[in-house]
Amino acid sequence: MSTHSSAESMEKRHGEAIDRATTDLTFGHWIDGETVDAANGETFETTDPAVSTAITSVSRGESTDIDRAVSSARRAFETEWRETTPRSRAKVVREWTAVLREHVDELTLLESLDTGKPLEYARGEIGDTIEYLEYYVSVAQAHEGAHLPQGGDNHVYIRNEPYGVAGQILPWNYPLNLFGWKVGAALAAGNTVVCKPSEEAPLSITRAAQLSADVLPNGVLNVVNGFGTEAGAPLTQHDDVDKLSFTGSVPVGKQVMTAAADHIVPVTLELGGKSPFVVFPDADIEQAAETAAAGLFYNTGQSCDACSRILVHEDVHERFTDAFVTATDGWSAGDPLVDGTTLGPLTFEEQYDKVSEYVELGREEGADLIYGGERPAGELADGHFFEPTVFDDVDNDMRIAQEEIFGPVECIITFENYEEAIELANDVEYGLAAGVATRDTTTAHRAAADIRAGSIWVNEYHGGGPGIPFGGFKASGIGRECAEETIGEYTQSKSVTIALDEPL
Ligand code: NAD
Repeated sequence: MSTHSSAESMEKRHGEAIDRATTDLTFGHWIDGETVDAANGETFETTDPAVSTAITSVSRGESTDIDRAVSSARRAFETEWRETTPRSRAKVVREWTAVLREHVDELTLLESLDTGKPLEYARGEIGDTIEYLEYYVSVAQAHEGAHLPQGGDNHVYIRNEPYGVAGQILPWNYPLNLFGWKVGAALAAGNTVVCKPSEEAPLSITRAAQLSADVLPNGVLNVVNGFGTEAGAPLTQHDDVDKLSFTGSVPVGKQVMTAAADHIVPVTLELGGKSPFVVFPDADIEQAAETAAAGLFYNTGQSCDACSRILVHEDVHERFTDAFVTATDGWSAGDPLVDGTTLGPLTFEEQYDKVSEYVELGREEGADLIYGGERPAGELADGHFFEPTVFDDVDNDMRIAQEEIFGPVECIITFENYEEAIELANDVEYGLAAGVATRDTTTAHRAAADIRAGSIWVNEYHGGGPGIPFGGFKASGIGRECAEETIGEYTQSKSVTIALDEPL
């Protein structure tokens, strides 16, 4: 087949998929149990990055819409949700997940078109979303209270109360998945929610919210679409929001924290990363190479916890690099709608430009480009695809080793001994995750203790799931999601002391 006709067939495949995914649907805000337009009637278009064509228009919110959503969430909290029991909340959330399960195909296609994620990955992540929603309500139900013994004169106990209205702001790389992480915890703990999805990937979240109709009480879950400064900032600055949770970049995270400080509200921040994968000389080298390649290239490198720096012992550097190149061959760019594709496009044009600029920078900084570095040709040329790219001989001081590229670009750095490996691993502003490849249990445990990051994966990468805390050290954030302690981030304790008289 000629390149030209392949490109045509890809465009046709996507055109038909867009029609299938969006016919009969509108993507307004979801406020007080219904779809509403932005107060000013404005919309924006969201784009399919595989073929660079518009998918559909989405409401473009601003402060008036945020005000409306916050007052809906406040009313639902005060009049209904705060009085519910963990058991009754679990019941309605499970009714919602049952509806989501019936719509997995639809949500999968929307998310794949909006982000460029291969269908298979989108489907798996949506399965995870449902699991997280169900996990949190189970944990909230299992929470036990505390009675504090104070002798016979006082009876003291602790109430864990929801904050009230939670404002939650999401990025575009795992839209529905991170929605499950945040919304699940807030609702399970008894809060109501106003969520602002990323303008780059609003479709699956908006649809999942619509699918809560007639299940979640009106106003318990609200979604306002739009841009960061127009809709996100007013949400963080709103004086009737009691808790903020943000996932995204460090610069915006700082602004969110500043806004939280203005109103003294607690804030959870899940920010960026530049996570190391440390290969010790005794590791199973081929296995380590496969694991590291998946740790970076999954989601086209657009993961906060991507292992975007490989630190490899000098004795095994050559063998590892050869094995890593072989493993990289297994990650070639392709149409996300075609079965078996492992590497979709970057999610939007600016992201493509950013990755290209970093690759150029790596060349200028003197790193050795040993794989990729270009846009693939042929039918993929119109989309925001980027070849898997590997730089060898990287110095940890280079900007490509220090800054979050957020694309399929690996940096290989060598070290001489354990101490240097740990020093390099920790020598970045971030501390989200790290991989360690070794067969020696002492090295594994020592490295796990010495690396300053929220998740350490030994002889694997991207481990996690409901019940396993996820979050960052240093500039990678504050707080933990996905775990029992997350419920604690959405509640505040109140001690109650009752003086006991003599019995009548
Ligand atoms: P981003 O910071 O540009 O945007 C995130 C969200 O914030 C979007 O919804 C955006 O509209 C909104 N926003 C932008 N400016 C705002 C403002 N002034 N006030 C309030 N909201 C505003 O991040 P992104 O490009 O969407 O996502 C990529 C980043 O997210 C990467 O740094 C990645 O590492 C990080 N991330 C972290 C985790 C984690 O769990 N630690 C998970 C996924 C992504």
